[in-house]
Amino acid sequence: MHDDLERVLFSEAEILAGIDRVAAEITAAYCGNEFTVVSVLKGSCVFCADLIRRIPIPLQLSFVAASSYGQGTEAGELTLNYLPSNNEIEGRSLLLIDDILDTGNTLYRLKGELLARGAVSVETCVFLDKPARRAVEFEADFRVLQVPDLFVVGYGLDFRGMYRNLPMVGVLKPAIYAATASPTPPITLDRGVRDSVEPSDPRP
Ligand code: 5GP
Ligand code: MG
Repeated sequence: MHDDLERVLFSEAEILAGIDRVAAEITAAYCGNEFTVVSVLKGSCVFCADLIRRIPIPLQLSFVAASSYGQGTEAGELTLNYLPSNNEIEGRSLLLIDDILDTGNTLYRLKGELLARGAVSVETCVFLDKPARRAVEFEADFRVLQVPDLFVVGYGLDFRGMYRNLPMVGVLKPAIYAATASPTPPITLDRGVRDSVEPSDPRP
């Protein structure tokens, strides 16, 4: 599987050093304020597991699952496949965790939804930030690493459901994309093509 990578952007050691730094920032920000971490499935589960074990203050853990429609429907249309129950949201301070902030649509919509359902506050934390592709005005409150405008895999991030278990983050060899049915390599993605590389199975 490692052989499928053309280039490693971040090694496991670099990732964990970045997570140590952000965990300390979150600990300082939430010290004395009980909160709930909400992990966006599936991509953020690896990051979230490493992050919360470095935050030594009381917190609860919850999950949310969202997916985008593919081509043929409005770009960025988000479906919520699974939300925390109301008593996990209402009156709670939430820290929403995602694998990567790209166009910003996912976290922008999710944050609005959770606030509308009664969360006291919703802050966001992302493992990767890809500012070059932002389509809505949205910045994360905490972020570990910034990436250029490339399609990356590993450490929770997938290509067609695979590579989430790589301990590093990297870019796949062009031959891997060429071997799939995708009409264009996902490196030059428009919204529709990018959606097509998301798993079609809506379950978390
Ligand atoms: P946004 O709503 O910010 O455009 O997109 C966020 C989601 O798009 C991420 O949670 C992730 O599922 C997917 N995504 C965006 N960029 C990449 C990427 O470079 N690699 C992978 N594997 N997924 C990405
Ligand atoms: Mg995602």
